[in-house]
Amino acid sequence: MLSEITIDKLVRSRRKSFSLEITRDAKLILRAPEKASLSDIQKVLDRKKRWILNNQNLAKERASGITAKEFVTGKEFWYLGKLYKLQIINNHAVLPLTFNNGFYLSHSHLDNARGIFIHWYIDQAGAKIAGRINHYSLLSGLKYNRINITNARRRWGSCSNRGNLSFSWRAVMAPLSVIDYLAVHELVHTEEMNHSGRFWGKVKALLPDYEQQRKWLRDNHQILSLF
Ligand SMILES: [Zn+2]
Repeated sequence: MLSEITIDKLVRSRRKSFSLEITRDAKLILRAPEKASLSDIQKVLDRKKRWILNNQNLAKERASGITAKEFVTGKEFWYLGKLYKLQIINNHAVLPLTFNNGFYLSHSHLDNARGIFIHWYIDQAGAKIAGRINHYSLLSGLKYNRINITNARRRWGSCSNRGNLSFSWRAVMAPLSVIDYLAVHELVHTEEMNHSGRFWGKVKALLPDYEQQRKWLRDNHQILSLF
C-alpha cells in the first residue's frame, strides 16, 4: 500500500534504475526508467518506505531548526540600507515586533518570527514606497493607479499597462535613494512602457544620479532577502 507516501515529482527518463531524492523541504522526487510500470514504482516505494519517511522527518527537523536559529538576539536585519540588531524580549509586548533603532521581537512569537518579520516589512514597504511615489508623482505630473506590495524575490518593481505599480516588500531593506530609483523607474513606465533612451531620459530628469542606485542594486541585490 502506498498510503503513507506521496510522490511530489516523478521524472521518467532513459535510465535503467530508480533513484529517490528528498529535497530540503521534505518533498519526494522519484526518478524512474521510461518504461517502469505502476507496480514497479509501487515496489520501489514499498521497499524504500522506511528510508523515505526517515529522511523526510530529518529534512523537516533541519528546516525548523534553521528558522529558529536565525531569529536570535544579536542577529542583524536590513532596513532602509542599514543593519539593525534583533533583541528577543521576554515581556508580553502589545505588538509581536517593534522597531526602535533595532528590532524587538516578543519571545512568545518566536515560532512565527519569519512571518512576523515579513508582515512588518510589507507594512513598511507599503508606507515608504507609497510616500515616495506620491512625492515624485507630484513633482513630475506622472499619474498612477494603484500600488501593490508583492513577495517577488528578483523583481523589485513592475508596472502594468493599467498604471498599477508593484514592488517587492524586500525593496524596503534597501537605502531610501534606491527605493526612490525603483519608485521613479516604475512611475516613468506609466508613460514609457519600454527601456528606450526617452525612458532613461525621463528617469534622469527626476533622479540625476540614478545610475549609482542601479549599480547599488546590481552589487547588493543578494542582501535584499530574509533567508
Ligand atoms: Zn523597467
